[in-house]
Amino acid sequence: MHELSIAMSLVEIIKDECQKNKVEKLKKVKLVVGQMAGIVPDSLQFGFEVVSEGTPAEGAELEIEVKPITACCQKCGANFEVTEFRFRCPQCQSLAVKKQGGDELYIEYLETLD
Ligand SMILES: [Zn+2]
Repeated sequence: MHELSIAMSLVEIIKDECQKNKVEKLKKVKLVVGQMAGIVPDSLQFGFEVVSEGTPAEGAELEIEVKPITACCQKCGANFEVTEFRFRCPQCQSLAVKKQGGDELYIEYLETLD
């Protein structure tokens, strides 16, 4: 399961951060993932709950923001959102498009319990 390994590396990062900042308990974790990463938020949520047990992230709320895949047309310069992996400019139908976003995977912030 793809999401479980992501949840594990996520918790590792969180553990490190908490140790560095002497945080014992987290309230919330905000995560940003691109649609391109192919993550199922529900599975990640579940994986996170399992692997965070016994860490400062146990019981913390995990908020997952899914960012759409966006692209820029090399021909007419249009910016558009890519749906269903169709990399074609909606304005001029050109296939010369450059992907811009959608493969993000990072922690935006950690909220501590005080
Ligand atoms: Zn175009």
